[in-house]
Amino acid sequence: MFKALILSQVEGKTHAEIRRLNVDNLPEGEVLVDIAYSSLNYKDGLAVTGTGKIIRNFPMVPGIDFAGTVAESASDRFKPGDQVILTGWGVGERHWGGFAQKARVKADWLVPMPAGLDAKQAMIIGTAGFTAMLCVMALEESGVTPDSGNLVVTGAAGGVGSVSVLLLSQLGYAVTAVSGRPETQDFLTGLGAKAFISREEMSRPAHPLESQNWAGAVDVVGGNTLARVLAEMQYGGTVAACGLAGGFELNTTVMPFILRNVSLRGVDSVSCPPARRLRAWERLAAAMPPSAYAELGCAIALEEVPQAAKDILAGRIQGRLLVNLNL
Ligand code: NAP
Repeated sequence: MFKALILSQVEGKTHAEIRRLNVDNLPEGEVLVDIAYSSLNYKDGLAVTGTGKIIRNFPMVPGIDFAGTVAESASDRFKPGDQVILTGWGVGERHWGGFAQKARVKADWLVPMPAGLDAKQAMIIGTAGFTAMLCVMALEESGVTPDSGNLVVTGAAGGVGSVSVLLLSQLGYAVTAVSGRPETQDFLTGLGAKAFISREEMSRPAHPLESQNWAGAVDVVGGNTLARVLAEMQYGGTVAACGLAGGFELNTTVMPFILRNVSLRGVDSVSCPPARRLRAWERLAAAMPPSAYAELGCAIALEEVPQAAKDILAGRIQGRLLVNLNL
C-alpha cells in the first residue's frame, strides 16, 4: 500500500483527500517509480483547488513533476534502481502524477537523472526550473548575450522567476527583478538580481513604444506586464514568454516587432522534445550552484499540499516548494 493525494469531483467541486492505494490501482505504463520528491507548481495549485480546467478526468492524482527510483521496468531503457525525473507530458493532468509515493508512466516520459543531481535537487529545480532553463536557452538562441544589455524577469520571486534570476545571473547577465513583494528583495539579491521594479509599475498600461530598457526578458505574468515588457524592449531584443500568472490576455501593438525588430519566443515545457529536455537538464545540473538549493526550496508533506495549493495561487510562495513523499 502507498499514499496518494486523490482529486475527485463532489457536487461539481474538486475535492482533495489522501488515500491508501495498491500498485494495481495505478494506470498502465512501462515503468513503476518509487517517488522521493514532487514539487508544487502554479499549475498544481490550479489543479488541486479546481481553479481552471487542468484536470480532464477524475479520480486523478495531481502533481506535474516528480523524481525517484525505478522499481520495475518493462522498458530496456530503464532498470530497477535507476534515478529518474519526470516533468510535463500531461502527467498530473491526464495521467496520474507525482503527489503519491508511486507512479506508473511511459518510459518515453522519463529523463535519466543527470550526473551531479539527486532527486531532491531535481525537484527543487522541478518544472519551474526546467522551464526557466528553456527560457534561458530561447534567449541564447536569439543571440541575447551578457553584453547585449540588461535583462528583466517578471514574477521574479515565484518558481520560474526565481530560478530564471539565478540562472541568468550565473551566466553573467545583469538581471532586474519585477516582484509584487518588496519583502523578497534580499532573497532575489541572494540569487543575483541587480535591480528591482515593482509589479505595480511594470503592469501599468504601456504606450506602443516606451524607452528601450531590456535586451532580453523572461515573462511568467502575461497580460499588461507582458505588453509593457514588449514596449520596453531595446532594438533586436527577445522576450521568452512562458506564463499567465497575471492573465492570459495580451493587448499590444505590432510596433515593437516592426520598428524594433523585437522577438517574442513562446516557451512550453510540457511537450518539449526529449533531446532538448535532456540538454536542458544537463545544463541545469552544471549551472546550479550547490548553495542555491537551500536558498530556493523548502519541503512540505503530502498532507500540506491542499493548503499550499491555495497559497501558490495567492502568490504567497517564495521560490520553490518541494513535496517530500517520505514525510
Ligand atoms: P509561482 O511560483 O506562483 O510564481 C508566479 C509569480 O508570479 C508569483 O510568485 C508572483 O511573483 C507573480 N504573480 C502572481 N500573481 C500575479 C499577478 N496577478 N500579477 C502579476 N504577477 C503575479 O508559479 P510558477 O510555477 O513559477 O509559474 C509561473 C507561471 O508560469 C504560471 O502562469 C505557470 O502556469 C507558468 N508556467 C508555464 C510553463 C510552461 O511550460 N509554459 C511551465 C511552468 C510554469 P512576485 O510575488 O515576485 O510578484
